[in-house]
Amino acid sequence: MPSAKYEIRRKCEECGAVFIAKTLESHYCSKACTQKAYNKRKAENKKREQMDAILSTVPNGRDYISVAEAEAMFGISGKTIRRMIKSGKVSAINLGERLTRVSKSALLSMVPLRDFPIDHSKSLPKFYSLEPEDCYTIGEISKKFGINDSTVYAHIRKYSIPTRQIGNYVYAPKSEIDNLYKDVVKI
Ligand SMILES: [Zn+2]
Repeated sequence: MPSAKYEIRRKCEECGAVFIAKTLESHYCSKACTQKAYNKRKAENKKREQMDAILSTVPNGRDYISVAEAEAMFGISGKTIRRMIKSGKVSAINLGERLTRVSKSALLSMVPLRDFPIDHSKSLPKFYSLEPEDCYTIGEISKKFGINDSTVYAHIRKYSIPTRQIGNYVYAPKSEIDNLYKDVVKI
């Protein structure tokens, strides 16, 4: 089998360095960056879970909420909330040391609610055009990206890219293929 005449050049999503990705799924330049990104994601998830837990205990009818509750609701830092209180942008009451309560309705009128992560498992199915004019043949893909036919077939199966056969030709949607190989360069 001929060796691949292509490489995948990517920017490391952690440190920004350009590196040669070993596979289409490689997004980091090194083990250290993979680990760093993993730790970051884990910390973010934990923080999100904590905020979700706090949020679920905020009673609906109460306007004055704690700074921690406001953080959980709006995803802004306690520092920012305190600054808004200090400058008089939002009304607050002080029930004692570290017992500041801030007006939920005032914040609602100024700050968007915290972003909740999109659940991709529930996203709508994609629709592809498999009309020949919207597709490449396997041969065209191979030529365009410098990847041999069998590797193209392997990727198509691996990434579940839809195909259509007309006569002797197998077609795959241009949009999916361009996206799959966007970082691939011929060498
Ligand atoms: Zn890196």
